[in-house]
Amino acid sequence: MQDKIHDEARQGEAFASFANDPNAYKKKFYIESYGCQMNFSDSEIVASILNGAGFGATRNFEDADLVLLNTCSIREKAEQTVRKRLTEFRKTKERNPGLLVGVLGCMAERLKAKLLEEEKLVDLVVGPDAYRTLPALIEEAETGQKAVNVLLSRDETYADIAPVRLDSNGITAFVSIMRGCNNMCSFCVVPFTRGRERSRDAYSIVGECTHLYRKGFKEVTLLGQNVDSYNWHDEKADSTISFAKLLSMVAEIAPDLRVRFSTSHPKDITDEVLHAMATYHNICKYIHLPVQSGSTRILQLMNRTYTREWYMAKVNRIRALLPECGISADIIAGFCTETEEDHQDTLSIMEHSKYDMSYMFFYSERPGTLAARRYADDIPEEIKKRRLQEIVLLQNKLSLESNQRDLGKTFEVLIEGDSKKSVGDWMGRNSQNKVIVFPKEQYPLKKGDYVQVQVTDCTKATLLGKIMA
Ligand code: SAM
Ligand code: SF4
Repeated sequence: MQDKIHDEARQGEAFASFANDPNAYKKKFYIESYGCQMNFSDSEIVASILNGAGFGATRNFEDADLVLLNTCSIREKAEQTVRKRLTEFRKTKERNPGLLVGVLGCMAERLKAKLLEEEKLVDLVVGPDAYRTLPALIEEAETGQKAVNVLLSRDETYADIAPVRLDSNGITAFVSIMRGCNNMCSFCVVPFTRGRERSRDAYSIVGECTHLYRKGFKEVTLLGQNVDSYNWHDEKADSTISFAKLLSMVAEIAPDLRVRFSTSHPKDITDEVLHAMATYHNICKYIHLPVQSGSTRILQLMNRTYTREWYMAKVNRIRALLPECGISADIIAGFCTETEEDHQDTLSIMEHSKYDMSYMFFYSERPGTLAARRYADDIPEEIKKRRLQEIVLLQNKLSLESNQRDLGKTFEVLIEGDSKKSVGDWMGRNSQNKVIVFPKEQYPLKKGDYVQVQVTDCTKATLLGKIMA
């Protein structure tokens, strides 16, 4: 599986306390995360804040004094999953009436106090910019009152909070570089749930990445909804740090620290960024470049601010400057008014772009978004699903072809750990973010090492290889 923005396998994953934590805690919290990587990253900030307030993590909710769900609103299904999960905590709460249940993240922000009326067992509702107030809100809830803070902020970036790493492999980590989003894609709820875009202090980002490297991490992924519009004003030096500059600063921490980033908006990714990628060997040659649709008419209704031709030219530019670069996309099937011809345009832009992989969804109307207010959600569900199925089938073909093009090539691979299927095999990734599985053989390697691996076989999801001595 590729490095997912919205990893289905991780939905609802519980936070594990870090090994050998020497602190004694008065209470225990349990947290589950849903949605995009940003939420998983936020849970690590929440864990840090809660540790500071005397709460230790547990992986068993039956043991917890506080249960938190860090939620996603991006599609209706994401919200339904959380509501269903909440009902499962009812029994635990009956057994342990002192247990507090909190909803964090995008659903908390979207539904605000309404969530307390709709979900009676919820005690706390906390939006993504209000996590610093969690200790006070918990105290309030402990007195039997319901506690809500969903204020959005123009400057909160949690820059000074050292995240507690969520049950990580110790090799790869996500580092949040900005919050919020100023784009107004008409289908998207994010600008409403996460507020205005703001960039985090570049030096605190470099500091966090340096610290991770010193602890043995070998790869950082810089995270934001639209990383290419990162822009931080350094008041002391009276200068502005762009995303390209930030990338170079992180790349210079150490040549064997890999740097990745996600997500890029096609309208914002600049030649300067592509040049930085070409200059530094350790900036990975992989761009997640959501297209959403291949039809200019639909892209306009989506308010994506680029045309089909503009997007295709951007892909050509990436291929020209970075011939080895992997490209992936997000695609939405069945947006309002989408015709068969529009759908065909999506299929043909996928062929043009030769995506190595994609995250594919059918359109889900979200209350309050521009699309919900302006356009009818008029594509019947079975048509949405059929189109999505065609997109998925084409992507499977493109992924397999992409992997087949790698047969015989040799890649530098960062070992992330044992393969899921066999302890006799390593699993790692190449710069293009493709997963490679290969036999350990007699070599004295360990996770976190780099190794040259030749590709000998593949499936649509995985490359199989052999260590080059
Ligand atoms: N900021 C990133 C971007 O612009 O690509 C990621 C935003 S979102 C967390 C991830 C993906 O969810 C989007 O790229 C889009 O394909 C999909 N998405 C967002 N709103 C959606 C909706 N209402 N229905 C279906 N898919 C949606
Ligand atoms: Fe949503 Fe568009 Fe912002 Fe991505 S860029 S978070 S899709 S509004």
